Amino acid sequence: MINKNYSKLEKNYLFTEVARRCDEFVAANPGKRVIKLGVGDVTRPLAPVTADAIIRAMEELKHAETFRGYGPEVGYAFSREAVARYYATRGITVDADEVTVGDGIGEDIANIVDLFDIHETKMLVQNPVYPLYKATSIISGFEIEYLKCSKENNFTPTPPENTENSNKGVVVFLCSPNNPTGAAFTRDQLQKWVEFANRTNAIILYDNAYERYITDNRCPHSIYEIEGARSCAIEFNSLSKTAGFTCVRMGYNVIPKELERDGIQLLTIWKQRQTTKYNGAPYMTQRGLEIALSEEGLRESDKNIEYYRRNVKLITDILDSKGIYYTGGVNSPYIWFECPNGMKSWEFFDYLLNKFNVVGTPGVGFGTEGEGYFRLTSFGSYEDTAEAAERLKKL
Ligand code: PLP
Repeated sequence: MINKNYSKLEKNYLFTEVARRCDEFVAANPGKRVIKLGVGDVTRPLAPVTADAIIRAMEELKHAETFRGYGPEVGYAFSREAVARYYATRGITVDADEVTVGDGIGEDIANIVDLFDIHETKMLVQNPVYPLYKATSIISGFEIEYLKCSKENNFTPTPPENTENSNKGVVVFLCSPNNPTGAAFTRDQLQKWVEFANRTNAIILYDNAYERYITDNRCPHSIYEIEGARSCAIEFNSLSKTAGFTCVRMGYNVIPKELERDGIQLLTIWKQRQTTKYNGAPYMTQRGLEIALSEEGLRESDKNIEYYRRNVKLITDILDSKGIYYTGGVNSPYIWFECPNGMKSWEFFDYLLNKFNVVGTPGVGFGTEGEGYFRLTSFGSYEDTAEAAERLKKL
């Protein structure tokens, strides 16, 4: 018998439908240049020092004296120590032993739900949401409760007063700065979540993939800046948007030793899981991570983040001048705005495509509460983004 939960997943309709409408438009309007600011993938190249570290590591494997076989499932000591050193630069103490390195956090976030009992746990998921959290919860068969995000709470929800079915333990997915809304929690807001979790024995799964885009110093760069977080939170961080690793693949997570439930350390069972079901991330990409998180690596890849920030500003300046409500942009490569004149997300998509030949992502594709909103990304080239901004002036 197969796992029927797969049939409960929403069809992967969003980006295929975006592509279909876009292709149809291009076929019908061959002379028009369509600018795509929809997909959340980076375009700037790897920092040369990081790329060179990966090439050097590959070179080592060509020679018997430096060849390596399987590495540790949870990551080599050198890469885990690089992560711990990175936290130290933020004034946060993390033991390298608490770090697990893997091929990007998409799979870590998908797999972490293995640690929880499906009958006695309920997942709290933001709406709108990065689709993975919902999908992995559905596939495993967890009950899901949604956290409404809207203009009223500026897309930064507060903890629930009491959750339905409160006999179940709660695991909450928080993403800050958020994809798709770009909204980021301040320290005060996150403190409330940490207090909620410690009070109710809930666990926070904190997706920190866009941490390096933060410019507002009221927003924490890690949940471990918040007092009490070590006893309730697991943090995930990725090099995808920080260092352009979307195709290289590399991410890490931290599970503090203090994080225990039913007398069991979550770190222990996560390591058990990884050593059983996973054979470790590639040596080369871990050498890449080591350099990407060094002072020099970060200095170089931050130039790309600056590049994307310049793009963000081109778009937010237009929204500001038109008085359109938006979140994101300040701490994020994403700009999430209210469709003008009460338009629905797909209606606005068609309007933008037909009138301005610009493609973005309809907010409703990320959840019902995204209806009436739209997401643009700053990952395009400067020239394309400037051209799109010019066109949007006539919005
Ligand atoms: N989490 C968020 C919020 C993301 O936006 C992404 C990628 O877009 C991921 C996780 C996946 O990251 P990775 O490339 O490390 O698997």
